[in-house]
Amino acid sequence: MRMEVMGLLRLQAPTPSDTTDFGRIVVQQPCPLGVCRPKSAADVCLLLRTVYSSSSFDSLTVAPRGAGHSAYGQAQAPGGIVVVTTSLPRSIAVGSTSSFTFVDVDGGALWVEVLEETLKHGLAPKSWTDYLYLTVGGTLSVGGISGQTFKHGPQICNVLEIDVVTGRGQFVTCSETENSNLFYGVLGGLGQFGVISRARIVLQTAPKMVKWVKISYYDFDDFIEDEELLISMEDVDYLEGFVRLHGISSSQSFTARFGGQAEDGLGRGPTYYYIEMALHYDNEAAVTKTLESILPRLKFVEQMASLDVPYFDFLNRVRAEELKGRSKGVWDVPHPWQTMFVPRSRIKQYKDLLLETISETPRDGPIILCPLRRHKWNEKMSTVLPRDDAADDIFYVVSLLRSIPCPDGSSDSPQLRKVLQQNKKMIQVATGYDVYDHLISTKIESQPGALEVASQGRYDNNIGAKQYMPYCEDEQEWMVHFGEKWEMFRDLKNEFDPLNVLAPGQRIFKRKR
Ligand code: FAD
Repeated sequence: MRMEVMGLLRLQAPTPSDTTDFGRIVVQQPCPLGVCRPKSAADVCLLLRTVYSSSSFDSLTVAPRGAGHSAYGQAQAPGGIVVVTTSLPRSIAVGSTSSFTFVDVDGGALWVEVLEETLKHGLAPKSWTDYLYLTVGGTLSVGGISGQTFKHGPQICNVLEIDVVTGRGQFVTCSETENSNLFYGVLGGLGQFGVISRARIVLQTAPKMVKWVKISYYDFDDFIEDEELLISMEDVDYLEGFVRLHGISSSQSFTARFGGQAEDGLGRGPTYYYIEMALHYDNEAAVTKTLESILPRLKFVEQMASLDVPYFDFLNRVRAEELKGRSKGVWDVPHPWQTMFVPRSRIKQYKDLLLETISETPRDGPIILCPLRRHKWNEKMSTVLPRDDAADDIFYVVSLLRSIPCPDGSSDSPQLRKVLQQNKKMIQVATGYDVYDHLISTKIESQPGALEVASQGRYDNNIGAKQYMPYCEDEQEWMVHFGEKWEMFRDLKNEFDPLNVLAPGQRIFKRKR
């Protein structure tokens, strides 16, 4: 990099944490002075303009990195430069117009910081992720979903405006009415078109308290019927469903405990299900009455618990699990996570595929299974939804969030390879495309014949599902993933990052010279 630019940008040598991520499965080194800690969006413009305009950097790539909580190297830049967006000022400013109250927040700010600041005004964003120590830019690059999504849509659908530094080094402010193609492309755009330096997020009045209720089921049909009934109710503010394989201890795993209560008292069958729902309130008498009117309409077998917690504590519930997981040494271990969007008509088939596939391996970590509503999403944005079988407004999200401790802290083991093969089989059967070959084969050679087994899907080879935060290995697989969105996605890349400099860790486009 030209000396003066390198000096201005204070490029640094990478630290170990700059080269790995939460998944701890893919580790790729940036170049020797490959870490940029920008102090402003102008620094990001200077870096990207220099890389874009100078032929001496014709193979250099640049990865925007938020909190590094991807699972498969998505925020890494092998031989390139990592832009650590958490070094941006992280300013958070509440404002309003005649129609909206909003917060302007830097792309590198953590959602927990946004919550703390907006609560000072009695306000909060409407849509969240389960875990708040993720950056605004990082979750807006994938979608941002949790138990509020059925009601308010994903985080990307609660954005009024963004500032983006494109792959050409241009600073562009965009919204639904200004530079709208970049706005829709960047939201869910996997870091491909530009670095989000600021986002304007819609706010609502924050509740003081949350009634957090857990109910359990043995019967899958009853479970999903009640989930779908509950997301139709105006009074329900949050809903997530979980699948539990009985007998697998959750004590070792990273799993959101219910306000600290052990789950092992739940159910007695081989598999059971439970719903966590939450009702916001300021007045306890009223919310108790509402809950009393809801519960009799449901088919649960046991009401496990009902807790009253402050709104901040409820939203920050996974943090306690992180600290517990760290103390038990199951946090900084490989996490071959996988999340799928599944058409409602195939959810039983996919659940059976999942349980059958993972049943022979010990599982540490939650399995989330709950309904979302298509009309709460904006299909102009880049996040891809599952096939729509019958103009069905409901589809499901299924997250398999496993932790695979490896011996001596390494990031490989036969167990991990087995789990990656299981993931491969589920993706292939559910979506029809073939992934993970490279990932598995770059590990210690996989067991002979294992991949063939993984690819012998016994189900019809395409449930019509789509990966959320997809792991694909080449342009071919990405074309299948994006389907009819692929042309738009590729055209946006040609317009805003024509040399394919940005976010190489997603493995979508090869760097052009
Ligand atoms: P990184 O991992 O640093 O980056 C992710 C991607 O975004 C990369 O491609 C990167 O290049 C790009 N990127 C990062 N910052 C920017 C920016 N400013 N501009 C442009 N591109 C950028 N997701 C959910 O939807 N719901 C959940 O409930 C949820 N819970 C999670 C819990 C845990 C414990 C973990 C580890 C992850 C969870 N996730 C969840 C997934 C998480 O939302 C995504 O992995 C997210 O991308 C991580 O944010 P990050 O700031 O760590 O981004």
